[in-house]
Amino acid sequence: MRIGPASLSMLFIVWLLTYCSLLFSQTSSLHGIDLGDLDRKAEPCTDFYEFANGTWRANNPIPASMTRWSKRWAAGESSKDKLREILEAASADKNARQGSTEQIIGDYYGACMDETRVNAGGMNPIKPWFAKIDAARDIAALQQGMAEMHDILVQVPFALGSQQDPHKPSWVLADLGAGGLGLPDRDYYLKAEPRFKQAREKYVEHVTAMFKLAGWDQKSAAAAAQAIMSMETKLAEASLDNVALRDPSATDHNTTFVQLQAMAPHIDWTIYFKHKQIPTDVDMNVDQPKFMQEVDRQMQQTRLADWKVYLKWQLLNSTASSLSAPFVEEDFAFKGKYLSGTTEMKPRWKRCVESTDQLLGEALGQKYVEKYFPPEAKARMQEMVRNLLAAMRDDILSRPWMSDDTKEKAMAKIATFNPKIGYPDKWKDYSHVEIRRDAFFDDMIAGRKFVEEDDRVTIGKTVDRGRWGMTPPTSDAYYNPLLNEIVFPAGILQPPAFDMNAVDAVNYGAIGVVIGHEISHGFDDQGSQYDYLGRLRDWWTESDLKDFQGRAACVVDQFDHYYIEKDIHHNGKLVLGESIGDLGGAKISYLAYRKSLEGKPLPADIDGFTPEQQFFIAWGQFRGDATRPEAQRLMVQGDPHPIAKFRVIGPLSNLPEFKNAWSCKTDASMVRPEDKRCDVW
Ligand SMILES: [Zn+2]
Repeated sequence: MRIGPASLSMLFIVWLLTYCSLLFSQTSSLHGIDLGDLDRKAEPCTDFYEFANGTWRANNPIPASMTRWSKRWAAGESSKDKLREILEAASADKNARQGSTEQIIGDYYGACMDETRVNAGGMNPIKPWFAKIDAARDIAALQQGMAEMHDILVQVPFALGSQQDPHKPSWVLADLGAGGLGLPDRDYYLKAEPRFKQAREKYVEHVTAMFKLAGWDQKSAAAAAQAIMSMETKLAEASLDNVALRDPSATDHNTTFVQLQAMAPHIDWTIYFKHKQIPTDVDMNVDQPKFMQEVDRQMQQTRLADWKVYLKWQLLNSTASSLSAPFVEEDFAFKGKYLSGTTEMKPRWKRCVESTDQLLGEALGQKYVEKYFPPEAKARMQEMVRNLLAAMRDDILSRPWMSDDTKEKAMAKIATFNPKIGYPDKWKDYSHVEIRRDAFFDDMIAGRKFVEEDDRVTIGKTVDRGRWGMTPPTSDAYYNPLLNEIVFPAGILQPPAFDMNAVDAVNYGAIGVVIGHEISHGFDDQGSQYDYLGRLRDWWTESDLKDFQGRAACVVDQFDHYYIEKDIHHNGKLVLGESIGDLGGAKISYLAYRKSLEGKPLPADIDGFTPEQQFFIAWGQFRGDATRPEAQRLMVQGDPHPIAKFRVIGPLSNLPEFKNAWSCKTDASMVRPEDKRCDVW
């Protein structure tokens, strides 16, 4: 056929139609929120948590091996399927060179999966450690044993690690931290409520059971458990509680070597520092001097035999999950079942994936991002972070209560925010870690030694800003006030947090609020105490600080009134930072989303929901989860994060933007009365 002008114009029309439909399909293929998750029986203005994800929760009960469940947790678990594939392939690779990433992660995983061999070994792998403890004839030998246990991350009862100097954050200090408790925190030892009393009884039974598995008779196992309980109770009395620990100045004690010797004279610090290969003139911080004094008192007054029992217990407690099945099961019965409420252990492959991630995280993470982290995701995140930081800037500048002086300092802090997205620029070198296919316990020890050394060698040096505090597959994010950095590992950059195929309203409602949350941590009860260079330094005018603290007190009061059970409510002071983060995060992400629409036509409603409504539903669907009662109790006691329900209801009920988006009445439950409405950022 001859192509004349008519057919040319036909071709043009066909091209135009195709092009337009391509264009159209590109926008229309972007999806909104998940309609199937909504519970339409619930009223958004009455119970938004139920409305946003009630049907999802009803249809997706918490799996027996999990303490919490939501789309986000499900995504985190399915990342483990991907890691499993990587590890199985590495493990099957017979030609992997010794010291290569494939050999290290493959053999680690392979050895972990060799359950028959692990079970046949019983408690053999831990016997040499026990023998060494038994051989200690005096306090000096005992302290040598303690130092060696610190090398494998067993805190008996203190630990040495690195910490940025809060007064000169470019410098890394040696930090002596408090630890050494087998129950979750000090309150478990000291509080009179029946649930804590019961936990103490169960703990003593558990310690007894573990020693019996290790071959002891009932009488000596029970006596050991009592001795341990009494030592740990004294340590707990000398420890700060979870709320006190939120105050950075409570753990800020610059200490010289001579002062340390005076603080705890019955520990031979010269030998200890020599063992750790750290010079005694190192810059040092002691988190809890009172705790160290108690350790010293026990060094002097507790029988050597009891110290030995204590060391054995802490070692057993810390490594039980790497021993044979009876130890793994008893460890799970106490921590997994009794304390957290799960009824089933995770399958072995998943526990082995998690162990590899914990100890060889960047080796495994490197393989993960090669396969599963598209560069486009990084670009889109960078743009969102830029928009969120701009929104935070606008938000702070618009605050009438804050003086220009403080605003200027806040602007400087925003200007130095450092976002890290996906994975580190430089990977850790694992090539010297010796991993063998036939010795899982030793591999675990080698992995721990790597983690300890990798941290310790940074002490007494200029800070390395490239280091990451989470591994790339982690489905989480963090803010570090000393580096003024917000960090988003590749693992969180997937649905439901982040979705390349979702409309902006959904991404701003989910990952946008997460970004805003991390930015707001820079200005929460803790973050606000650090300046633009990460120094622990007051940069606020007195009246601005007072105003800020009054606003924070509103959030404390709000969460103090959120009950998880009849007698158990959130501790507002404990969850303050996270709640300021959620409130600020929702607010500034909403602002950033509105700003991103400037000069563009307003996006159409999708499935009957306005873009604003989609934004809030996305937060409810990302954040909402179901949590077991036992795990909720643990969270309320020790976790600075509120439970999911209140992370949805809490911030949104403070926002006029939410009320407007859903046309809620002023007296609706999702709208806090004006005189109680909290507004921080
Ligand atoms: Zn947070």
